[in-house]
Parts: sequence; structure tokens; C-alpha cells
Amino acid sequence: MKVQDAIDTCIQCGFCLQSCPTYRIFRTEESSPRGRIARLKDVLAGTVEATPETLATFEECLGCRACEVACPSGVPYEEILLAGRARLRDMQEPPPAPARLTLRLVRSHILLRAAKGLWQMEGRRLRRAARRLHSGQSAVRLLAAMPEPEAAPTVAAGAKAVVQVHRGCVMDVVWPRTNARAVLLLREAGITADLMPASTGCCGALHAHQGDLPSARELARGVIAAFESSGGAEVVSLAGGCAAHMKTYGELLADDPLWQERAERFTRAVEDVTTLLDRQGYRVRPPATDERITYQDSCHLRNGLKVQEAPRRLIAGDGYCEMAEAATCCGSAGIYNVVRPDVAQRMLQAKVADIIDTGATTVITANPGCELQLRLGARETGDVFEVKHIVDWLWQRREEGVGASGAAMEPGTRPSPPGGEKG
Ligand code: SF4
Ligand code: SF4
Repeated sequence: MKVQDAIDTCIQCGFCLQSCPTYRIFRTEESSPRGRIARLKDVLAGTVEATPETLATFEECLGCRACEVACPSGVPYEEILLAGRARLRDMQEPPPAPARLTLRLVRSHILLRAAKGLWQMEGRRLRRAARRLHSGQSAVRLLAAMPEPEAAPTVAAGAKAVVQVHRGCVMDVVWPRTNARAVLLLREAGITADLMPASTGCCGALHAHQGDLPSARELARGVIAAFESSGGAEVVSLAGGCAAHMKTYGELLADDPLWQERAERFTRAVEDVTTLLDRQGYRVRPPATDERITYQDSCHLRNGLKVQEAPRRLIAGDGYCEMAEAATCCGSAGIYNVVRPDVAQRMLQAKVADIIDTGATTVITANPGCELQLRLGARETGDVFEVKHIVDWLWQRREEGVGASGAAMEPGTRPSPPGGEKG
């Protein structure tokens, strides 16, 4: 949809206001979805000049897409946000150095490979050093909260895989074990799965969210080409934000005649790993311990891919307790916690209070960014809970021998056809 058409779908009703975390913090029209849309409409119409304040309203947005779910008019807010940021990009102050470094790092296969090697070798030492610094600097705090480097289980070459697991960029540096575990869990559930080649690269979500659409398009083409070469029928990402972004490739490349059709095909192939496991009937028995668990939604998985019940069914059991405001952003939002640590910290504090209210000893999530942000919250409140990616939690249950069951299927069979979440 053209951005002007997208803007025109907004009827300015305000139903989205209470769903918006930044509006709930600042209580101003400029910090609301409605205000941001109206501001961009005026800028595009030329009735208002774009100013640094205009940019600030877009910079402050988490991109969590909660407003899209609340909107009765079906406003495609993310499209408007990305177009607004791209339009205002020239006015932007460069992002802080750690954010710039991250954006540059994730574009380069060579740098990513080097970072992965460095993290495997020196991650423990770097993490320990960050912990000793007791710095208030957000990048240092996040480094201190990183999970320890851990060897990934071996993924043996299998039959031609139907489901391809996109390794991601930061995910492949810090969480390669989670990607490998996902492949093995999917295989156990009867789905032929494999890792996409390491050279596939980043999906471009971080670049798109920073308004750098040319880079986002270039990275999207690389992922589509790699997926086509794999011969897979479905592609999953263990990062909710990346999966939701890959689902927008059709829109992102809609004006590119050479790639439009391929991008549309790719978009239809994007799936979520918890949805696939749930459809196969994969279950682990709840632990026979007093572990009490809760689940924090990944905004993009819930609001973008509309996945909320499948992960909950996978972890359901006596020890589960639903958290208040589980659907509200934790403040991670890509690199938002580096670019706007002030707002991110306020959101994290509210989130930690909700977690503590549940009495949970483990918080499960489905996105590495959320995991890291919540680990930061745990670390800075006395480690009263631990945080795990859902794939790591399922893997741990399996390793503890509490048993797993999956619908028996012959290798090479396709997962059940998509049909939305089972209700
Ligand atoms: S974005 Fe949707 S809910 Fe918000 S003001 Fe516009 S039409 Fe209403
Ligand atoms: S994406 Fe999230 S933070 Fe941004 S306007 Fe929508 S609800 Fe508010």
C-alpha cells in the first residue's frame, strides 16, 4: 500500500491510544500513534515543515505494533512508521556509536563471522569485565546481561529440508545453540528441518526500523535468494522481530519488478517455530519441580505474525502463570534500548514488577532481544527469576528426560498446512 493510502485509512478515532506504551508514559498527542500519523500526513502534504521535533515523535515509537491490533480501521501502522523514518532520515542525528556499530556489523558476513569467533572465545571474559564496570551505559549493561557462550549441539546433515531455519545475525553470534536446538526439536516432531547457510546474513529488520530502506531491501534480496537455493518450502526465524519483518518482504520489494514475485512467494513461506511444533502436537511434560513459569510475548510475533496461543500451549502446565500485560513491550524493540535507554528502562521496570507479581522463577520468551532485556531486568533486581528462549526451555525439559511427544511423521513430510492458530 502506498504510504498516503495507508495514512488515509486512519480515521483519527483514538481507539489505539491506550494500547500505546509511549502514550501511556507521556500522555501527549505527539507520543501517540494517532499523533504520529497526523504529523506525517501534514509533512507529506507540505502544510507543515519537517522539524527535529517531527523526527523525535517517530524516534520515540517502539515499533511494537500494539496500535495495529487495537485499530478498528486496519491502519497498517508499521508501513507508515517505516516510511516516516525513511523520509526523515536525512535529518537524523547519527544513532549512538554502539547502535551504529551493530548496524554495520550485521551487514557484513566477515564481521559477523569474526564476532562469532570472538564471542565463543572471549565472551565469558568480556561479560565478566562488563559486570565489573558497574556502568550505567546501556551497551555495557546489556553486555553484562548476555548469556554465557555455550556450545551448540551438532546438527547432522539430513534429508532435503522442508523447513529452513534462518540463523539471523546477532542470533547466530550469541544464540547459535538455540538455532541448532530448534532444528533438532523440529526433526523430533517429524519435520525435516535444517539451518540456512551462515552466509545468508541478516534479514534487514534493524535497518528498516532505523529508516534505512535501501539497506533493508538489499539484505532482503540476499535472504530470498538463499532460501530459494535451499529448496525449502517454509522458513522460520527464532527471533520474533526478524520473522515478522521477513513477512513484510512482499511490501518492501513491491516496487521492484525483478523481485516482487519472489518476495511475495517468500512472504508466504515465513512461519513461526512454535506454531510448527504446536501443529505437530509436540509437547513436553511439565517439570516435576517447583519451577513457576510465565511467558512474555514478543511484540512482533504477537502483533505482526499473530502468534500468541501456540507458545503458551507448548509450555502449559501446573507451574504456568499468565503475567499481567504480557503483550506489552519490555522496552527491547530492536536497538531501542540502546537508542532510547531512558524510555526502555521505564518499560523494563514496569515489566519486572509484573513478573515479580506472578512469583515466576523462569520467564520464557520467543525473541532474543526480549530475552536480553529481561535478563537485564533480572540481573538488576537480584536475579529473582531467570529468562529463557522458549526453544531453550523446551530443550532443557527434553535433556532432563521429562519426555517429549510429537506426532509421528515420516522424514520429509510437510508440516500441517497453515490455517492460523489452533484455538
Ligand atoms: S490508528 Fe486506528 S485506532 Fe488509531 S486513531 Fe487511527 S484509525 Fe483510530
Ligand atoms: S508501534 Fe507501539 S509505541 Fe509505536 S505508536 Fe504503535 S503502540 Fe505506540
